[in-house]
Amino acid sequence: MANLSPKKVPMPARAPKLRSRDFLEVATGYTAEQAIEEAGRCLQCKHKPCTGGCPVQVDIPSFVAEVAKGDFAAAYEVISRTSSLPAVCGRVCPQETQCESRCVRGKNGEPVAIGRLERFVADWHNEQADVPACTIAQNGRRVAVVGSGPAGLACAGDLLRMGYDVTMFEALHLAGGVLVYGIPEFRLPKAIVQQEIRRLQKQGLHLQTNMVIGRVLSVDELMEQQGYEAVFIGTGAGLPRFMNIPGENLGGVYSANEFLTRVNLMKAYVPDSPTPIRRGGRVVVVGGGNVAMDAARCALRLGADKVTIVYRRSAEELPARAEEVEHAMEEGIVFRFLSNPVEIVADDHRRVAGIHCVEMELGEADASGRRRPVVKADSDFIIDADAVIMAIGTSPNPLIKSTTAGLETQPFGGIVTNEWGATSRPGVFAGGDAVTGAATVILAMGAGKTAAEAMDKYMRQKNQ
Ligand code: FAD
Ligand code: SF4
Ligand code: SF4
Repeated sequence: MANLSPKKVPMPARAPKLRSRDFLEVATGYTAEQAIEEAGRCLQCKHKPCTGGCPVQVDIPSFVAEVAKGDFAAAYEVISRTSSLPAVCGRVCPQETQCESRCVRGKNGEPVAIGRLERFVADWHNEQADVPACTIAQNGRRVAVVGSGPAGLACAGDLLRMGYDVTMFEALHLAGGVLVYGIPEFRLPKAIVQQEIRRLQKQGLHLQTNMVIGRVLSVDELMEQQGYEAVFIGTGAGLPRFMNIPGENLGGVYSANEFLTRVNLMKAYVPDSPTPIRRGGRVVVVGGGNVAMDAARCALRLGADKVTIVYRRSAEELPARAEEVEHAMEEGIVFRFLSNPVEIVADDHRRVAGIHCVEMELGEADASGRRRPVVKADSDFIIDADAVIMAIGTSPNPLIKSTTAGLETQPFGGIVTNEWGATSRPGVFAGGDAVTGAATVILAMGAGKTAAEAMDKYMRQKNQ
């Protein structure tokens, strides 16, 4: 008989006061007993509406049924048929707008905690014996993957399974993309991403870091001189946007990308690290997405006295994952909704002294379907600040476009592809944020998998 509780089994988490001053993981994960209890809430719906909400079509009722039986190995086997990074997705997918939004249990209570169960199964699997070495027959054909974020990792994983000889080129010194340089340790421990990359290396992946494609080698050179028969571009959208308001060039203003890179890759999160970064004081973060929440919560953990998030719409429109907003609020981050910066105010030394904002109200719906914020008359106010972090979005970097012959892009910089990820340049495929602009981990992974299938088809046809 199903567990009829209208509520999810709560996710164990560290207390806000304790966790808001360190970088250890916030949510600690279900125990086996809690996972079995939560899995018992699933009604095993025949039409699998939840699976329809998952961009990579995880067979949710089947894996949840295995969890309910306590057969976690079988549950992992089901998930890994379609998802290559379940420990990551279980932690960072916006489940409330994807799989869980379609769960029938959500009609009269909370949906089944699909993400938490997925995380439990993946963590259980990762705690078992070490990853076996490669047993896949190689076909000797060389393909290149540019960028090591979720799109590149998913694409490389599938191509390796098909027997290709895959080389991944990564611009930074560490592979993982946003999973390592953006999302902080307290949400996604780096060891999980490194374990996934090690698994791919054991399957034969050649990883070359510190390789900026477009500078050290171009895509054209990879194909014409280095013998790669096809190339996947998964270079993400790492170019920060600014508001173009006065004061954005003052000392103490960061893009969220730069701030989070200093925290994660330059290890500012390690106590007493010499990384140059703002510690303490009053910090204002502009934006309302996951990036803004991560920057604000990192600033708090680096010792800020007060952290304020300034967002131009209302709480209902916040694009960040619901759980991150809830955690940020619990930790004491202050939210100024319906507020928009117009200037960053300087002190006598050209450093940040505050941020001048205006209040907004919601008008008619815009193209995105959300009500457009409009300025309220005579509503100016200033928030005193020592640092401002801009987290208002990013775009794809133009480097690949400017160094690859015949590669079409959209005006915002996204690479143009067909539904299979093929670009305008034969043999070159692309996916993830480099195509769509900033999106989600699971969409990037889905695009990487789709492109791997198309690359395989392309290589087979090329041989005929
Ligand atoms: P990326 O992850 O950006 O990886 C691209 C890689 O390519 C990088 O490693 C980059 O260094 C490399 N590269 C770039 N140019 C070159 C070049 N010329 N040569 C070689 N390598 C190159 N999504 C969620 O689903 N849930 C979340 O909770 C969430 N939180 C986020 C928090 C932050 C702070 C950020 C920044 C994003 C977040 N996202 C979240 C979005 C998600 O991380 C991205 O959509 C996803 O990582 C995109 O994957 P990708 O593989 O396309 O690109
Ligand atoms: Fe849900 Fe993400 Fe898992 Fe799909 S991969 S089932 S969207 S948590
Ligand atoms: Fe289970 Fe919900 Fe999916 Fe139905 S919709 S199978 S209850 S997870």
